Amino acid sequence: MGLQKIDFVETRGNIVRDCPGTKNHICCGYKTIDLIEGCVLSCSYCILKEYINAPNIKINRDMPYILSQINETIEAEKTHILRFGTGELSDSLALDRRYGLNRPLIEFFGETKKALLELKSKWASIDHLVPYLNPYTVISFSLAPQRIIDYEEKRTSPLYKRLKAAKKAQDSGCFVGLHFDPVIIYEGFEKDYEYLIGDIGRILDLKKVLWVSLGLLRFPPRLFDRFLEEGRKNLLYGEFIRGEDGKYRYIKKERLKIYRMLYGLLKRQEEDLFIYLCMEREDIWRGITGLTLEDNEALTGLFDNRIKNLYGGNI
Ligand code: SF4
Repeated sequence: MGLQKIDFVETRGNIVRDCPGTKNHICCGYKTIDLIEGCVLSCSYCILKEYINAPNIKINRDMPYILSQINETIEAEKTHILRFGTGELSDSLALDRRYGLNRPLIEFFGETKKALLELKSKWASIDHLVPYLNPYTVISFSLAPQRIIDYEEKRTSPLYKRLKAAKKAQDSGCFVGLHFDPVIIYEGFEKDYEYLIGDIGRILDLKKVLWVSLGLLRFPPRLFDRFLEEGRKNLLYGEFIRGEDGKYRYIKKERLKIYRMLYGLLKRQEEDLFIYLCMEREDIWRGITGLTLEDNEALTGLFDNRIKNLYGGNI
């Protein structure tokens, strides 16, 4: 893993925030917890390189304050079942075994039973957490074909270890989440995704997959320059446009084609899977799922229904 220095800090103010989402795109009402800022895994496409200037990784060590902020947010919410995550400014598990950051959060959500904590990761280390896991923690892995992991996510766990860890989380009583994000176009990617989704169907219990997200590669202009400098062929393959939010994305025709393919492959494995698109426009949503989502609120409602269906009256 990386050699970055870790700074322990006591940040005050808004530790719990709304996921920033992106302008004119449908977002899901996710709450982020700023527990760690910066990431040792250093994926080549990571957008954090644009947002975080400090070379060191910051860990907020004031757990009582963090828990009080989460509690206040849960208590203030009257309509929705809140979903929280620590994986927006870092990877949720990469530093966990060394620093034991997630255990108090897992226990808090298990006692509160009113909201969900998602630990989103590319680092397949959950053995130390297994004794504390409960259904109010969702263990999620970002998944990509091994070729992308080899070239663009060099410091992360290989695919088979992520799937094995996801299975272990299911066996320990948790639902899991799967994130195909970022999906990257390269020569032959379709076949690789077909195999990957086949493996998921063989290894995991798809009835215990709470949600699946699909998000195609997108990045701000400065990262485009970096990809050029570094000669990242995988990341520059395909045709891009700049979206309304200024970020580069694959052209709409390609996006629709890829989403349709992935959506179809996943639904063939399990018709009941709950699949959502991360930061996409309403017309793309409609084209893929047939659903008309007028605003973010509509998508948050779909999440509420999904959780109620699987948790019954236990949340
Ligand atoms: S694991 Fe996530 S946060 Fe960490 S470098 Fe990779 S993309 Fe960035």
